[in-house]
Amino acid sequence: MHFELNPQQVELRDAARKLAQEVFKDKAARWDREEIFPEENKKLLCELGYTGLSVDPQYGGAGLGLVDTYLVIEEIAKVDLATALIVHEQNVSPRIIATYGPEAMRAKLIPKFVSGELECSIAWTEPQAGSDAANISTTAVREGDEYVINGQKVFTTYGDRAHLHLVYARFGPSKGARGVGTILVPKDSPGLTVRKLPYKMGVRGASENELFFDNVRVPAENVVTLGDPQNSKGFVAPLTVYNATRVGMGVMALGVAEGAFELARDYMKVRSQFGQLLSEMQGLRWLMADMWIEIEAARSLCYRALAAIDAGKPDPCLSSVAKVQATEMALKTTLQCQQMFGGYGYFGLLPLERMVRDVRMLTITGGTNQTQKNAIANHIFGS
Ligand SMILES: Cc1cc2nc3c(=O)[nH]c(=O)nc-3n(C[C@H](O)[C@H](O)[C@H](O)COP(=O)(O)OP(=O)(O)OC[C@H]3O[C@@H](n4cnc5c(N)ncnc54)[C@H](O)[C@@H]3O)c2cc1C
Repeated sequence: MHFELNPQQVELRDAARKLAQEVFKDKAARWDREEIFPEENKKLLCELGYTGLSVDPQYGGAGLGLVDTYLVIEEIAKVDLATALIVHEQNVSPRIIATYGPEAMRAKLIPKFVSGELECSIAWTEPQAGSDAANISTTAVREGDEYVINGQKVFTTYGDRAHLHLVYARFGPSKGARGVGTILVPKDSPGLTVRKLPYKMGVRGASENELFFDNVRVPAENVVTLGDPQNSKGFVAPLTVYNATRVGMGVMALGVAEGAFELARDYMKVRSQFGQLLSEMQGLRWLMADMWIEIEAARSLCYRALAAIDAGKPDPCLSSVAKVQATEMALKTTLQCQQMFGGYGYFGLLPLERMVRDVRMLTITGGTNQTQKNAIANHIFGS
């Protein structure tokens, strides 16, 4: 498949690049050091319409494709992954609701995601159900016009600030994927307790949380699942949406790697040792060339996977390949770029050590790289 950005996409990318470099870059260290959410960045992103890039215009969004959306996210990730994550998350939940929610819910909620008035966490992982995601035990039991939710979630990003939680729950007695659906739980629901997880390695401008549900009652109209959730393929269906989320992890990793690479390249042009610039040393030049090759490969894979989804032909295997290649590449690249700065790269006055910590998250989230390799192997062997 031939892939080339059109003039509108180039314009969109360049505008995001300008914003990232001129506004977000210098503030990025603060969110990490103080462990605070980049509130002012979110406000700006909402004003500029970045929080509704992939949302249908009938709900106030820009109606753009995933390629366009992630071009913006990539540019922001070059300087600040915590801020890039805001655009990513704010575009994901509306897509799930737009695909699986009833029209009344879409019309009521999605415009508020675009404006930033609402945020939604995705509460899927449980202590005993991480990679084995179909093994969740949180239950949603129908009582009259309500569902009663009991169970526990862990690692819920933005769980401490989201107005709504998209909770994966077991609606029926069956085991495995069948009977798993999703339901929106408002943050102030009686019986819901949220506890922030401490000592996080990176992306400290976003928090992960445990959620505890003790007989939490939610109106039945909050269900976000096609058909009868008791007997649904609720677990399987949203996975098509998660194809994009998965590649999104790859694109964010790509952005961080490119950001680190650009810093290293610029430093190598001014730092000399043994009477020679680093950029003139053959061993280091090849290191940079090798990194460039890997970055180019990741970019091609990620945008090919996103273009396939935009074209209505999602390729789950390609999405997994892109996610693994880009995130593994980014782990190596950020470390090697940090090395290029010698001792200076080890200190927080430069962003390298933050980039190394931040990017670590992306081999785990969106389905670990090991589970992606299982999916790729299943594709190779037919099961
Ligand atoms: C920063 C962060 C943010 C997150 N945000 C969210 C969120 O918003 N919402 C949410 O629901 N979850 C979230 N998660 C959870 C994340 O999705 C899980 O951590 C991930 O799915 C892995 O589950 P686990 O941690 O229980 O590891 P486990 O599943 O216990 O895996 C442990 C190790 O074994 C490997 N492994 C497991 N099974 C296999 C297998 N069959 N073959 C080979 N290797 C295997 C894994 O790859 C991993 O290396 C987040 C996690 C992190 C770190």
